[in-house]
Amino acid sequence: MSSRIAFVTGASRGIGRAAALSLASAGHTVILAARDQQKLDETAQAIRQAGGIAHTVQIDLSSPDSIQQAFAKAKEIGTVSILVNNAGITRDGLAMRMKPEDWAAVLNTNLTGAFLCIQQVLQGMMKERWGRIINIASVVGESGNAGQANYVASKAGLVGLTKSLAIELGSRNITVNAITPGFIETDMTAVLGEPVREKMLAAIPLKRFGQPEEVASAVKFLAGDEAAYITGSVLRVNGGMYL
Ligand code: NAP
Repeated sequence: MSSRIAFVTGASRGIGRAAALSLASAGHTVILAARDQQKLDETAQAIRQAGGIAHTVQIDLSSPDSIQQAFAKAKEIGTVSILVNNAGITRDGLAMRMKPEDWAAVLNTNLTGAFLCIQQVLQGMMKERWGRIINIASVVGESGNAGQANYVASKAGLVGLTKSLAIELGSRNITVNAITPGFIETDMTAVLGEPVREKMLAAIPLKRFGQPEEVASAVKFLAGDEAAYITGSVLRVNGGMYL
């Protein structure tokens, strides 16, 4: 199994943290990126305790300057061969009343931020003629969802970005795939009230919510040599919630 350098956004908690732990357990050096340094340090500590190698860099995906600076630090560590665009935010609201700043914040962080991260790693991947880009989209990017026009647009955008880049970068041996998680138990979903949770549970054939580790295992798979012939795909990790 080859050992490479992976850059994971939103690695301070939730799915990103689990993905970083999983990639480290596969022998990859992991660069953990998010805004909260203390939480990044906690993830790094957990990886090191398990015998893995982890570095941390602070990044604010809503700021192109911050992205540029974070990748300048990452390049000092080495060439990033695996990029996991995982960080994401929600600012839910009905379209009629959605504030332009809530639209912009979600699109900037979830979609533009991911694209700018991809731009940062392309040169190195092209030179190596090896790369894995994994974009964490969402089930609602496929199905649509009332009250989440901004979030859904950002996630559907990530799927379109994934497919376009899979075609554009295939000849360089860079694969680009998306994962669309369903309802995963993290801080993002902890804020939802009991009636919403019950309604969602009823719509999930597997009759339970997903765990961050169950998305992380899909990340590890797509990052590995076993997934070499998979590109432009959308891997659903949703318990059957949307087929
Ligand atoms: P979470 O627990 O809320 O964690 C979000 C992560 O994103 C944190 O590590 C956060 O770190 C980081 N982040 C947020 N804004 C950032 C910014 N401006 N710059 C850098 N990092 C930022 O969310 P999660 O549930 O693990 O979700 C991870 C991804 O999966 C997201 O893209 C989400 O949309 C997607 N997803 C989640 C679910 C679900 O049910 N949980 C379902 C489908 C898709 P800091 O706060 O430290 O910056």
